[in-house]
Amino acid sequence: MNPDLKKLLDIQGFDKQIAELEQELRRIQQKEERIIGVVETKLSQMNDVKEEIEELNKDLQFKEELLKDTLENLNKLEVKLNSVTTEKQMQAVNTEIDIAKTNKTVLEEKIESLKEQIEQKRKGLRELEDRYEQLKKTLRDYQDRFAKRREEIHNKINEINSLKEELLPTIDKKILKKYEKINRWAKGTAIVPVMKDACYGCFMKLTPQVLALLEDTDEIVYCPNCGRMLYLEEPSE
Ligand SMILES: [Zn+2]
Repeated sequence: MNPDLKKLLDIQGFDKQIAELEQELRRIQQKEERIIGVVETKLSQMNDVKEEIEELNKDLQFKEELLKDTLENLNKLEVKLNSVTTEKQMQAVNTEIDIAKTNKTVLEEKIESLKEQIEQKRKGLRELEDRYEQLKKTLRDYQDRFAKRREEIHNKINEINSLKEELLPTIDKKILKKYEKINRWAKGTAIVPVMKDACYGCFMKLTPQVLALLEDTDEIVYCPNCGRMLYLEEPSE
């Protein structure tokens, strides 16, 4: 094989490794964003429940004040009942007392129900808070792992890049330019093997002349159809 082509094949291999590592970085990023999204959703659910509890508490306070007023009114009416002189007055006060008692019962029931609702909501909130803490811990664990892996990946990419930088100046400039030009559209497949007498880039059958060039010379051979650089796979040992 042409020695420059052999080096370019290494370069292509390095680029492929870098592309895979960069893809892994993106996957890590996406996974991290997904977990952060779940944590944020939990937080916003917690805030919603807190607001609901606040609303219920306001309603509870309002009804408790109403109940207090109703009880005071009831006391006053009972005092008043003792001081009435006529049957008619007594009837009127008794009617008022009945109404106040009904109000009292209704309010007490509502207050009881509100307290139960608040208790339920608080229970739900505690569960959400527990889950939120767990999720935050999971996120921290993942972030630790992700940070380590990111560092490993960046080190590996740097390592590959220095190998590349060592190799690049040793390659014939014209051939390197040609390779880069093909790679702009071929994206990682600028150099392809010949498989079953066909270009492994475009799968076009190669002519016996092209195959003979590959077999018998050290020249760089281009696929007449797609223009990629071709090489014969060395027989494996
Ligand atoms: Zn081709």
